Amino acid sequence: MQLGHAPGSISPSRVGDRLAAPGSDEAVAYELLVSYLLAPEELGELVGDQPDYRVDQIRDWLYRTPVLDAQDMTNLPGDLRDEISSRLWPFQVEMEQVADGETTRKWLFRAPDGAAIEAVLMGYPRRATLCISSQAGCALACTFCATGQFGFERHLEPGEIVAQVAYAQAFLRQIGMPGVPDHLTNIVFMGMGEPLANYRRVREAIRRMVEVMGMSARSITVSTVGMVPGINQLADEPWPVSLAISLHAADDELRTSLVPINKRYPIAELEAAAAEYFEKKRRRVSIEWTMMEGVNDTLDQADKLASIARRLRAHVNLIALNPTPLSEAKPSTQLHIEEFANALKRRRVNVTVRDTRGRDIDAACGQLRAQSSPPGSSALIEIGVGD
Ligand code: SAH
Repeated sequence: MQLGHAPGSISPSRVGDRLAAPGSDEAVAYELLVSYLLAPEELGELVGDQPDYRVDQIRDWLYRTPVLDAQDMTNLPGDLRDEISSRLWPFQVEMEQVADGETTRKWLFRAPDGAAIEAVLMGYPRRATLCISSQAGCALACTFCATGQFGFERHLEPGEIVAQVAYAQAFLRQIGMPGVPDHLTNIVFMGMGEPLANYRRVREAIRRMVEVMGMSARSITVSTVGMVPGINQLADEPWPVSLAISLHAADDELRTSLVPINKRYPIAELEAAAAEYFEKKRRRVSIEWTMMEGVNDTLDQADKLASIARRLRAHVNLIALNPTPLSEAKPSTQLHIEEFANALKRRRVNVTVRDTRGRDIDAACGQLRAQSSPPGSSALIEIGVGD
């Protein structure tokens, strides 16, 4: 990132009216304004005339013990807190929705250029999992996925990805969910977008989560539709992040009809890349399988899937399809899901039937799609976060 300014040469207040999208010519001004968009190592630029220990304090507040409001950065002087307040988050919190007895919470964040970023926090007795977005929209057009149905908007910046994590972390620490840990235990790249199609920025986001926020790489799962070059690259990174492969079909004809990118990276290549990931990282790969009635829930598919899963020593996660606006596909019945799971178990494949959280607030897997206007819902809470 090129700042192009001596520390302190442009005061954030002077560029305050020059909000611009990341990546545009105005990006420098935008990055100066918003602290999460700076690399943590570049924070010194943001507060150029402050002593080093201040920079460390700010870095701690942003990454180690995040807070929702900069006024809670208690060891900073008031004027600095005021300055950071206006540029703490690289987005506005446009909407917050709750479901499942307040243990599921979806946020719609809005970037200054209008891009919508959605994240879903799911709380459990011993886990708090955040599902984050890596792109606004998605270009890969999987037929059954709401994000894919609405097309690609843009890549998210590393700071926009990390800020989703920091926001949820701050929420858990400061507000919390009933009966749920007060910190994130898992991050999954299962929100909007294909993380490996935004490789460089996702890599940098992971680096910041692991090296600066102190999260364990194993607790971070990159879920991919099967971008083979990205899987190979990820295998060579220093962090043992978990890998999930969204397979959904065990032969190329069916898979290509559901997941068009399969034409470019067919199952055999994907399996080879996943096998190599397992070899290099010694991390068990998981296979995601969205169950669609009469499409991919047959015993023939279970049989072929079992062969792949056994070769990879992979864990299979089954999830009933969440219906989406532009697809006629229906979720498999409970009975068919059980039969499918049992067929896998008979072949000694580890399998979990995943629960679906947040269906009624369109927060479930594959339902995120950057709505620009909030749906009417009784579970809806709108919270104001000033300009
Ligand atoms: N692009 C990445 C991550 C985002 S999708 C990927 O494909 O893995 C996250 C998961 O949700 C994937 O496993 C995806 O196949 C699944 N999914 C997408 N649409 C769904 C739907 N309508 N119902 C259930 N799962 C869905």
